[in-house]
Amino acid sequence: MELIPVIREKVDRLFEFLEERTGIVAEQNWTCCLSCGIAAMQKEHPGKPYVFYHAQDNETWYNPNRKILLVEFSDYSTAADFCNAALDIGIELDWSGRMSERIGLVVRQ
Ligand SMILES: [Zn+2]
Repeated sequence: MELIPVIREKVDRLFEFLEERTGIVAEQNWTCCLSCGIAAMQKEHPGKPYVFYHAQDNETWYNPNRKILLVEFSDYSTAADFCNAALDIGIELDWSGRMSERIGLVVRQ
């Protein structure tokens, strides 16, 4: 059973919801890597809460061995909003709740 088309649509919906209905900047496939992504967020959206995953994470969609899409976030409150919205949409999470770890979205079983 291929889950990707369904979960992809849900993840698109999640990021669109955050962009349109909250003050959170939400970007998919954002820059090449984690450090560039954080720097670009701080430069282009200074002081704003954000979530994103970068181009290397984006490979998760195409690699059958990768089950978790990792998402970076700006602060704990944003992480909580992101997780609540994801759960509302029906996306399974894989996250310790620690600030030092990115939030995982389960995209394959
Ligand atoms: Zn980079």
